[in-house]
Amino acid sequence: MSHSKVDMRSDTVTRPTPAMRQAMAEADVGDDVYGDDPSVNALQLRVAELLGFEDAMFVPTGTQSNLCAIMAHCERGDEYLVGQMQHTYRWEAGGAAVMGSVQPQPIAHQPNGTLALADIEAAIKPDDVHYARSRLLALENTLGGSVMPLDFLAQASALAQRHGLARHLDGARLFNAAVAQGEGGDWRSAARRITSHFDSVSVCFSKGLGAPVGSMLCGSQALIKRARRVRKMAGGGMRQAGVLAAAATHALDHHVDRLADDHRRAQRLAHAFAELPGLQVAPVHTNIVFVDITPHAKEKAVGLIDFLAARGVLANGLYRLRFVTHLDVDDAGVERAIEAMRERFSGN
Ligand SMILES: *Cc1c(COP(=O)(O)O)cnc(C)c1O
Repeated sequence: MSHSKVDMRSDTVTRPTPAMRQAMAEADVGDDVYGDDPSVNALQLRVAELLGFEDAMFVPTGTQSNLCAIMAHCERGDEYLVGQMQHTYRWEAGGAAVMGSVQPQPIAHQPNGTLALADIEAAIKPDDVHYARSRLLALENTLGGSVMPLDFLAQASALAQRHGLARHLDGARLFNAAVAQGEGGDWRSAARRITSHFDSVSVCFSKGLGAPVGSMLCGSQALIKRARRVRKMAGGGMRQAGVLAAAATHALDHHVDRLADDHRRAQRLAHAFAELPGLQVAPVHTNIVFVDITPHAKEKAVGLIDFLAARGVLANGLYRLRFVTHLDVDDAGVERAIEAMRERFSGN
């Protein structure tokens, strides 16, 4: 990282480490559209097996991964059920509707980010000519950094199955959830406990895992076969993608266990911010800290992002103040953010 600034806007801002760049430089490659890239093929097999699926497909972005999943599960005129704040619905430019002609049925979240089972059930349409065909339930974990309770995933999944709906998980930050829930550091079992409730799962290597590019969609062989056609249509058929798969492979080898450090640093931020007047800190489960500024401290919110940036701290203020920890945020960076926030909010 550049030492003049600590960038906590997102965990997407990480730069590949020297060791990761070395792995990329040495990657064995081939034309992946022909299925000829050994590094991509090995990574697909590895992630499918790791998460308990028959097959997997390497894609450039999580957005494309989710789009491929939704369009592989659904036909034109079908509908997918999704939480209001989920990435697929809110932050992917409406791709499922625009490119897939798949109607989203958004559902309001509960305060902890889950969806009420009664709300899901009420949104599933009966088989009647008036309605779009409800085909898919899409969930997200972590959601805004919150780990979804396993019993919620199990119950929502069972409900979807009872109604004949497929189940997709946007697990862009699945490994953060798995590390948070893994007992004795066993994130592999924790990841499987989550993914076992889904027919398809998308994971990102370009978030906390620190790869520059790359996501993986996992599912059955039949689903991934359909998804490969969508990926081609979306322009995501890559050629010598092994250099990217090598980065993702390196990330899986070296950057999963260390997510616990990101989570510890996020806790440190949350506890320090919670002591400052005018700040309300949302519960922190993993690597994302959301901070709301109370109405009586509102004037301190004006120009806050620029104030922090002038002190070498980049935070996200798109809709709420957000600090995200990752590979390129160390303890000194965390203390710098705390100092800058203290300067703004402590006293008077
Ligand atoms: C980042 C993210 C994605 C995909 O993002 P890309 O920038 O397209 O890789 C999908 N879902 C969630 C929850 C995300 O945070």
